[in-house]
This record gives sequence, structure tokens and C-alpha cells, in this order.
Amino acid sequence: MKIQIYDTTLRDGTQREGISLSCDDKISIALKLDELGVDFIEGGWPGSNPKDVEFFQRAQELPLKHAVITAFGATCRVSGIPADDQNIKSLLDSKAAVCTVVGKASIAHIEGVLRTTQEENVRIIEESVAYLRQQGRGVMFDAEHFFDGYRLDPACALELLKTAERGGADVLVLCDTNGGTMPWDIGRVVREVAQQVSTPLGAHIHNDSECAVAGSLEAVRAGCSQVQGTINGYGERCGNANLLLRTKAVFMWQHFAAARIPISTSIRKRLAIGRVL
Ligand SMILES: [Zn+2]
Repeated sequence: MKIQIYDTTLRDGTQREGISLSCDDKISIALKLDELGVDFIEGGWPGSNPKDVEFFQRAQELPLKHAVITAFGATCRVSGIPADDQNIKSLLDSKAAVCTVVGKASIAHIEGVLRTTQEENVRIIEESVAYLRQQGRGVMFDAEHFFDGYRLDPACALELLKTAERGGADVLVLCDTNGGTMPWDIGRVVREVAQQVSTPLGAHIHNDSECAVAGSLEAVRAGCSQVQGTINGYGERCGNANLLLRTKAVFMWQHFAAARIPISTSIRKRLAIGRVL
């Protein structure tokens, strides 16, 4: 099993307080990330601001050797349909080959934030994923607050993953959005989920407990084939899993090797020599 490295420095990383990147900055970082050998570069949220729209326009001309640019956005709105949804339209207009769609995966957020029902949330997730697939895009489904949601109501959280799978998602990304889940719980939940779905799993772990790298390693050991993170762990609040900090990155690589899980050669070479941006 090859591990995909998915970098979200240009989206989640820029949600860190004090970080602001111009479009030129984002372009030059994307080129560096490609040079580093990451598999996916999440370029931004084209539905959220004009700078990200410009980035995706310019990104089409980038001479990338390996990485695929992805665009981030949400499912269509409650009571709406994807074909009429401005956010979904922005994802398509970005021309990104892969769209990462975030959806609620905790009953607490479905009822408390979206103020809707599980049935309606199932509908908007399935229709949004299926619509983007019909438009020829690869789709990663980010299950927001998945680990907290699974602790609260495992049946509900699992149903949402199966919904995204039914819609045709290529990867189901389990998010520890609050960063409070311990690594051993992440491993246990990933193992349980892997028995229920056949779509590849990813992990997006925040660092509020200073365990994002450890949690990501556990996720991979338990069966995730995609790891999401950022350069230097930049990200909202306490940040994300750090893909690059030298000691941690080498540690991560050693774990992959020990687990006999091949990681892409270019990443391995560069992590082994501790090269940083
Ligand atoms: Zn995040």
C-alpha cells in the first residue's frame, strides 16, 4: 500500500493566526511542494475569496512534475441542490482535477450547526459527491469532526461515510478537527471503520493535544492510505500534523519503513536527508 501525502498548507495552513499568503506566495510554495514530492496540494477554497480563485487560474499553467492540485469546499447547502450551489460551482470553476468536499460527520454539528436532520445531511453529502464525480472530478470526502462524532454516535458517523462512498468518493478522510483524540483511539477507530467501508481512508489530524503526528502514524498503521498535514504543522489554532519538521518527519518515515509500508521514493529520499522548505 502506497501512502499518499496530502498537503494543505495553502488552505488549512493559512487559517493559522498571523499567516497571510499572497497569490505569488502560494504559487511559489506550490512549486516547492511539488519539488518535495507530495502527492496532493490543496490550493485553497475557491468559494471563499478572490485570491484563491486567482490561484486556481494560475495553477493550471504550473509545470508540476508530480503533485495534483486540489480545491477545497463544502457540500451544497441544506435544502439546496449541487447544480445550483455557488460553492460547488466555484469548485468546478477552479478546474482542479480533484475536489475535497467537507461535510458534517457528528450528530452534534448536524443538529447544532447545520440545524438540520441526519436524513438531510445524508442527502446533501451523497448528492454533492455524486455531482462532482459526474462532472469528472476526483472527490475526497473530509468527514469533519469524525472522531468526536464517532464517539458520540458511531452509527451516525459511519452512515455518513457510507453515504460519501455511495456517492463515489475516492477517499474518505477521517478528521480530528478539534485535535483532542488520543493516538490509540485514532488507531482503534480507523480499524473499526476499515471493516465497514471499502473506499481508501485518509487522516486529517489537528494538533491541539500535540499528538497530530503520533495520531497520523497510528492512522496509517491502522489502515489509512492518505495522510494530510502541513509544512511546519501550520494550521488553525494549534495547527495540523507536521509533514516536514526534520526529526518528526524522519521519525514518521522510520515508522512507515518499520511497518513495511512503502512511502513514495521521492518523499523518502528528501525526508531522509531532512530537507526543509
Ligand atoms: Zn483542518
